[in-house]
Amino acid sequence: MPEPWRILPRMRDTVILGGGVIGAATAYYLSLRGIESTVVERRAVASGASGTAAGLLSAPTPADLRQPWGSLAGQSLALHFDVAAALDGPATYDFEPIDTVLIAVSEPERRELLQVFGEAAWRDAAAIASRCPWLQASAILGGVVRRGSAQLDPARFTQTLLDAARAEVIIATAESIAVASGSVTGVVVAGASHSASTVILAAGPWTAETATLLGVEVPVSPLKGQILRMEVSNAPDGAFSDLAGNYVVRKRNGLIYTGTTEEDVGFDERPTAAVERQILASASALAPIIAGGKVVERTACLRPLSADGTPIIGAVPGVTGAYLATGHGRKGILLSLATGRALAELITHGESESVDLAPFSLQRFAAEVP
Ligand SMILES: Cc1cc2nc3c(=O)[nH]c(=O)nc-3n(C[C@H](O)[C@H](O)[C@H](O)COP(=O)(O)OP(=O)(O)OC[C@H]3O[C@@H](n4cnc5c(N)ncnc54)[C@H](O)[C@@H]3O)c2cc1C
Repeated sequence: MPEPWRILPRMRDTVILGGGVIGAATAYYLSLRGIESTVVERRAVASGASGTAAGLLSAPTPADLRQPWGSLAGQSLALHFDVAAALDGPATYDFEPIDTVLIAVSEPERRELLQVFGEAAWRDAAAIASRCPWLQASAILGGVVRRGSAQLDPARFTQTLLDAARAEVIIATAESIAVASGSVTGVVVAGASHSASTVILAAGPWTAETATLLGVEVPVSPLKGQILRMEVSNAPDGAFSDLAGNYVVRKRNGLIYTGTTEEDVGFDERPTAAVERQILASASALAPIIAGGKVVERTACLRPLSADGTPIIGAVPGVTGAYLATGHGRKGILLSLATGRALAELITHGESESVDLAPFSLQRFAAEVP
């Protein structure tokens, strides 16, 4: 329980609820526009999915580009290269350009890859296994090599953005948001009231709960994913993934990250032994070297998943000064920068110049959300 007499530092006029990658990217782009913000984070910076994600920045596929978030993904990947150059990403957060290999293990998957990437991009099993020495050729039919992707350490990336933004971080939970005459006027944190004219709800899968402070319903829920961090002797560089969303990637810290799962189990963030066995079995079937490795850490975290799978980015209808940025699902690290930039533009200019935010508005759920 917070002590009611605790004195918190005076907060800034722009308050971001949530110290994950989306809140941090928003703070970063606001700072480039001259606005310094306070980030209120109830546990620790990057203590949710933003700290334990794999950190893959996969180049969008042609199928991705047809999704409402496709152009956001393309823009954001380009921004990742720019920001890595500006903030010394290779040194500060292990940013690394990589090619990734996407494999097919069944005939329907082979047809899917051919349909998405075309005949010219297809490589047979032997070619893929020589390109990605992780893979056992007899376990796959073939695949495609995705150039222009990258990877990073997501926890350090999130912290680097906050540092670059000179954001003030307060570890506390926002208890209420004050609204007068339809406009945000402040927040109450740890029993103390602070004036603020702008509040951004970026609390990941907890945004639905946080939005109740404004009396707004936000259709976002948690989707659990688990990852194993492993030491694997003589592990090759690079990364591969299959069409079921499983992957193996060698991180710059020398560890291998492999996963993952999609579990609809509410706000349970505990890794499980059953899933560990399942991940090890499926990764070893494709990459036998994994079987000889040692699991050094198990992580589980919650993706913020919107009801239709598209992020929710924009103003809260009916409350001037309140904004939302959540629902980035499996792609939040990738999509963070374009999201933060678009929101900073919206907040400072009244509209985003870089992204048409209409497909991301909360109003699209108006028919379903009373
Ligand atoms: C296993 C796994 C692997 C993934 N791998 C990748 C990947 O390789 N590439 C990729 O692009 N994406 C990946 N993702 C997705 C990505 O991690 C998420 O989309 C992204 O981290 C979401 O960021 P966020 O800031 O919205 O939420 P979070 O990281 O959940 O941050 C929200 C923060 O808000 C805080 N909070 C909650 N309520 C309050 C409150 N009331 N007041 C103050 N603070 C509050 C929480 O403590 C939390 O720190 C992966 C996800 C999982 C689960």
